[in-house]
Amino acid sequence: MRQPLVAGNWKMHGTRISARDLVSGVRQGLEGLGKPRVAMCPPFVYLADVAAQIQGTALALGGQDLCPEVGSGAHTGEISGAMLADVGCSYAIVGHSERRSLYGDSDEVVARKYFAAQQAGLTPILCVGELLEEREGEHTEAVVARHLDAVLTQPGGVASLAKAVIAYEPVWAIGTGLTATPAQAQAVHAFIRKRIAQHDQAVAERVQILYGGSVKANNAAELFAMQDIDGGLIGGASLEAEQFLAICRAAG
Ligand code: PEP
Repeated sequence: MRQPLVAGNWKMHGTRISARDLVSGVRQGLEGLGKPRVAMCPPFVYLADVAAQIQGTALALGGQDLCPEVGSGAHTGEISGAMLADVGCSYAIVGHSERRSLYGDSDEVVARKYFAAQQAGLTPILCVGELLEEREGEHTEAVVARHLDAVLTQPGGVASLAKAVIAYEPVWAIGTGLTATPAQAQAVHAFIRKRIAQHDQAVAERVQILYGGSVKANNAAELFAMQDIDGGLIGGASLEAEQFLAICRAAG
């Protein structure tokens, strides 16, 4: 049985005060939530504040990105995996479509970030997903396979998935209000699991595959009910405690 995971990606939103209020709202609503693991990924500068606020709760913390370099060094402006772990993170998002499209993260860079996260003891949340024109051109599986293979084909890549999470995020659904139908999402999740199973059946059965793309309180339950959807990576709706908690409950 895979434990559901709901992770909130705050992106570049909030202030110290709004972050504190949001975490406090989520904390209060967590009681009795039960099954799903819940993680929050605030901007780097708020991580330490949030870490202090969630101490002693079941909430987990994640970074939204990390430097592909391991160790410390002359990398002005970068944040290493070790630094994320040091302030209490257990997850790091890698390969988010906004990093790929706006900041030029190639498949190779995403793979390096993925392994850098693992080397720091973090669980990478590897985002994969197609653009609208790629879906319309029936290239969804090819794109998702390419994103996945960037990691799978590395030495130790398949085994590494035992300590990773995958997030299928169709780019056309991110922040647009458009959501993949449960059937569309399930089809890609099943494809991902099958592709991993070609290498290792046990790893494929265990790996959590999240769906992301305009998940809201009113569509979460039907998405999470699908066989291969193990929770969600939530952007906009993670910025409002009640909405985020409702999504977490839908994963329970
Ligand atoms: C995301 O940023 O990963 C995301 C899925 O955003 P949204 O939920 O706002 O579409």
